[in-house]
Amino acid sequence: MNFAKNVELLAGFPKSGCIDALVPRSLIGDGQDLLGTSINKEGLSSVQVEWRNGTIISIKGLKHTSTVHREILLPRFAEPHAHLDKAFSWSRSPNWKGGYHEALAANLSEYKLRSKDELLFSVEKSLNLALVNGIGAIRSHIDSFGKNAMRDWDILESIRKQWREKILLQFVALTPLDFWQTYEGELFAKRVALSGDLLGGVIAPPFNNKNTFKSLLHLVQLANRLNCDIDLHIDESQSCPAAGLRLLLEVLGHIKNEISITCSHLSSMGLLKEKAIAHLAKKMADKKLNVVALPLTNSWLLGRKNRCTLIKRPLAPIFQLQKAGVVVSVGGDNVNDAWFPLSNFDPINLMAFSMPIAHLSPWDRLGLAPFTSSAAHVLSLQWDGILQKGSPADFILLDSNSWVKALSERPKRRVVINGEFLNEMPKNKKSTLSN
Ligand SMILES: [Zn+2]
Repeated sequence: MNFAKNVELLAGFPKSGCIDALVPRSLIGDGQDLLGTSINKEGLSSVQVEWRNGTIISIKGLKHTSTVHREILLPRFAEPHAHLDKAFSWSRSPNWKGGYHEALAANLSEYKLRSKDELLFSVEKSLNLALVNGIGAIRSHIDSFGKNAMRDWDILESIRKQWREKILLQFVALTPLDFWQTYEGELFAKRVALSGDLLGGVIAPPFNNKNTFKSLLHLVQLANRLNCDIDLHIDESQSCPAAGLRLLLEVLGHIKNEISITCSHLSSMGLLKEKAIAHLAKKMADKKLNVVALPLTNSWLLGRKNRCTLIKRPLAPIFQLQKAGVVVSVGGDNVNDAWFPLSNFDPINLMAFSMPIAHLSPWDRLGLAPFTSSAAHVLSLQWDGILQKGSPADFILLDSNSWVKALSERPKRRVVINGEFLNEMPKNKKSTLSN
């Protein structure tokens, strides 16, 4: 079987096609589509997916297949936590020691000198990689506390427009928490809210409880007033377990919150005893807080000690949170910058490296969801990544017939965007796609 044979373009219908592939059972929305179809030990079913005008018109389970399908079909990925503005800045701002505080210092000095061209380079290189690797949406935190903050947001707004048909972009204004209490902070928050983006900040120990409570309360009130969501870097630390989360829950106990709040990192919570984790997880579920776990940067940065390997590592307690009903996704975080020197906006790479750290398995529904449907949920995307009739024909095809192979080798992949194969688009269209 070859690709050409496997794809039957439906003459007369644009953005149409039909393909036989393996699909994770947990990503099929309607069980009726799979009646009588077998599921292999990795949770994959042989399925025929047909689409027209960019929309899936049918999904059929293949009952008597004599051929083993060679591709795995997955929805295009959503990256719930990136830093597009500083990606690929490692060469001008390395952090050889690899710790959190060294990363922060290197980031601050790099940010002060970051030119317009350097920003453009970081964002465009990241988006071009993300596109061919199969990412369809990205939430990126943006350093927004310097004299160039407005310039950067103007540049990012025009990049978002250029890319809107290929990758949906959401930005989070990353500033010191107390900035949101200033007059400039209020003005900036209005701009962020107007463009449908999010307010951000960092809560990591050591912090002053009283002042941080006040700043956080103000931020949540401001966000509610502007109807603007929040995504915080919270408890990215190996000390004072869940101190920031406790403060956030205390704030939410004082006011009525109607916006979506995402807790990114939440790493030190994993160091608490099980009972305390369960108690806090339940409160988080009650308050509808979302979580983005970031295993790669946590493993690289946190708890480093000279000549001493830390065995118990800070990481969001993903399973315990899921069990309590909290939506948890897994993100890539930094790419080739002072916070993390490796990675490449490849969601398969992210799965391959973070699954062993977080004990997630691709054949378990709750092991796969953090990379697929839960990430879409955290970003409040129109489509949750579940494949069914009426879903967008927006997916990737991995040249592999098993999860084990797909995550061990770097499989070739084909990307379908709005019903069209990226590698088959006319040249002029492809070049506008990668502008
Ligand atoms: Zn981050």
